[in-house]
Amino acid sequence: MITKGNFLLMERREFRDWLKAQTITRKIERLQVHHTAAPNYVTRRMVAGLAQQDHFACLEGMRTFHLSQGWSGTGQNITTFEDGKIAISLDRNLNATPAGIKGANTGALCIEHVGNFDKGGDTMTEAQRDTIVHLYACLCEKLSITPSVNTIVYHAWYKADGTWLGDYAAGKSSKTCPGTAFWGAGNSKAAAQKSFIPDIAAELAKLKNGDGDEMTTEEKAAFKTLQETVAAQAKRIETLEGREQMAKVPAWAEAACVAAKKAGVIDTANDGSYDFYRFITVLYRRGFFGTVGAVPVKEAK
Ligand SMILES: [Zn+2]
Repeated sequence: MITKGNFLLMERREFRDWLKAQTITRKIERLQVHHTAAPNYVTRRMVAGLAQQDHFACLEGMRTFHLSQGWSGTGQNITTFEDGKIAISLDRNLNATPAGIKGANTGALCIEHVGNFDKGGDTMTEAQRDTIVHLYACLCEKLSITPSVNTIVYHAWYKADGTWLGDYAAGKSSKTCPGTAFWGAGNSKAAAQKSFIPDIAAELAKLKNGDGDEMTTEEKAAFKTLQETVAAQAKRIETLEGREQMAKVPAWAEAACVAAKKAGVIDTANDGSYDFYRFITVLYRRGFFGTVGAVPVKEAK
């Protein structure tokens, strides 16, 4: 996690815990979905999947542009990158109403995904895709939002004046944002319902089931030790239980059993437990069944 200038930059795996520690003081019931269009993968100078431009340079560039529009700070609350990193706008923290969709920002959180996801634009990286799904799922978890097309909304589903259209309609929608090829499916309500919303719902379910946390190397080592301990204990119990009922009269108890039977103390010496044979043997040695025989009594360990 790095703080520099007006932004906090973190890895995908750091986001959930960071978010859990935040105190939300305003009601947030909608999560906006935007692409930046510019900057994009080209202006980020991607070479072999890695951007050559510094994250903070990109973020400050957007902020400078937003300020030039007369805005009070960076428009969005959160930004995602092609390498899966997440940036929080410190000048537009989660408790500040964003400048994402004119007329529809109250109660909303604005998330900008760096890239141009219109047809013919950038192809979203796997890393950014994974981050986007995880990010919205974590926000749903924290803010008690059920993923749906009414709670996770595309910019394109609004008119320029902020009127809700509920779907993309060319000529009516203010923009194509988050892109006509967003999520490989487009920016329509049907496209969101088919893949984007279910992907987030699945991730949210994973988080709630506790599958979301990847184990660290130390945790994995501790878990392996625990597994080995359990396996060793199981083997020990199996051995002890096997000892409980003896398959046949142990050699060291034979003389005692014969004497006990002869004395009419027991009917049968078969199927006894280890403790039974020990007990009979102790009694035999004390002369309870007559004279101790000449056979040396030798106990098993
Ligand atoms: Zn937008």
